[in-house]
Amino acid sequence: MRLVFFCFTPKDYQHCCPRSYLRNKVMSIHIIQHPKGTEPEELTAQGTDEHLSQRASIGWVEVIAGSMFSGKSEELIRRLRRAKIARLKVQVFKPEIDVRYSANHIVSHSEMRHESGAVKSARELLAEVLSATEVVGIDEAQFFDAELVEVANELARRGVRVIIAGLDQDYTGRPFEPMPQLLAIAEYITKTHAICVRCGQPANYSQRIFESEELVAVGAGNMYEARCRRCFVPHADAPTSYITEAED
Ligand SMILES: [Zn+2]
Repeated sequence: MRLVFFCFTPKDYQHCCPRSYLRNKVMSIHIIQHPKGTEPEELTAQGTDEHLSQRASIGWVEVIAGSMFSGKSEELIRRLRRAKIARLKVQVFKPEIDVRYSANHIVSHSEMRHESGAVKSARELLAEVLSATEVVGIDEAQFFDAELVEVANELARRGVRVIIAGLDQDYTGRPFEPMPQLLAIAEYITKTHAICVRCGQPANYSQRIFESEELVAVGAGNMYEARCRRCFVPHADAPTSYITEAED
């Protein structure tokens, strides 16, 4: 909500009422609603950005969290595109470790893409944000260091809308830091779900289907599967396609 002051033009007002002109110079105070008539506080927990197409007076943090194949990057790109349509100045970043599909784009599994810069650390990300930037998108946040939490807070404090997408659990089903901390500081959270490839229920887990002890194994579609709680096993498991073929 902003306050805007209006006064009559001096020429007109001095002519008809010169003595009270100065005393009444500020004639009225108009209260103007937030663009589209909605304050950010009215947003739902579902994370819709229907009302976020224009910059508010303060910044905030949105987190899109879920398993692999749940549409996190797609949702991030959708919000970034809408911000650009609203002519907001947008910058997008991803960790340098993730160059699976492109070095200078974030890319969803459905092949939506958006230009991005690759950075080594949260501190480098902060240094790259221009003073005029109004919206910052961050993909694959789980591959960033813990300082991303403070960086997100700092950007929001400057008035930036920060939209962060990331895996909330690793392949063993444990919270994937710094996502838990980012979820805690976010004003708005969207949890996305994939579809379990074994039973068709909503999937909340990323099943690793190859043997590796590495926590961070940046994978493509043939290294992980979306699984529900019942079908997930917290270690490498045989791929569903293989099982299906064997049963046929
Ligand atoms: Zn299942």
